[in-house]
Amino acid sequence: MISVQGLYKQFGDVEVLKGIDLTVDKGKVIVIIGPSGSGKTTFLRCLNVLEIPTKGKISIGDRQLDFSQNMTKRDIHEFRRLTGMVFQNYNLFPHMTALENVMEGPVTVKREAKEQARQKAMALLTKVGLADKAHHYPFQLSGGQQQRVGIARALAMEPEVMLFDEPTSALDPELVGEVLKVMKDLANEGMTMVIVTHEMRFAKEVADEVIFMDGGFIVERGTPQQLFTNPQHERTKKFLQLIQ
Ligand code: ADP
Repeated sequence: MISVQGLYKQFGDVEVLKGIDLTVDKGKVIVIIGPSGSGKTTFLRCLNVLEIPTKGKISIGDRQLDFSQNMTKRDIHEFRRLTGMVFQNYNLFPHMTALENVMEGPVTVKREAKEQARQKAMALLTKVGLADKAHHYPFQLSGGQQQRVGIARALAMEPEVMLFDEPTSALDPELVGEVLKVMKDLANEGMTMVIVTHEMRFAKEVADEVIFMDGGFIVERGTPQQLFTNPQHERTKKFLQLIQ
């Protein structure tokens, strides 16, 4: 489903991604862990083409972008629609209700009819347990509820892959579970997911594979069992010691 080849990203003089290669099969859940500044968020943003990689290739399904070649804005926008992104700080439109937030993409980007978009958005809000909050504005919702709207909004665009950038790290501890539950349900339905998170218990329970990144590289990848109980690299061992 996802194939990344030789992906580099530079900000000014600083090379943040130094040659990432990765394949992810359809329906798999990949959790990315690693120290702060190791390039996890940048990598996720490259998959969503919110950042334009310096070079390398990304394929999703049967579409590919080769960043060594020229591309149009349209190429980028079309490719972006293959992935749905969930942000740490929800990024909801504050002046729109939960329902309007979820409808916005389908109506303005996909040109869906409003009534159809509304019905689909309502179904998605029901799926994330927020049917009764459809007409609430973000400020009237808890962080956990806002993030569930964020997930429904990303799903409304019917992406092939869902990307999560530390989706629970802005939440009070008692609200983390409700968001992880929605993510777990999605995983069980067979959604392909790439998740940057510090929730190691979630990673152990839900991930098919865990990737450890450090210094702009993928240092190692393995099943949660392999990576957490028998890490091969010194840097992985050190990191796991620090967080466990
Ligand atoms: P992580 O998610 O692993 O904490 P990031 O991908 O956020 O790492 O950041 C990796 C490095 O890239 C950091 O040193 C960060 O300062 C730098 N960086 C990220 N975004 C930008 C940007 N827009 N401009 C300049 N440097 C950036």
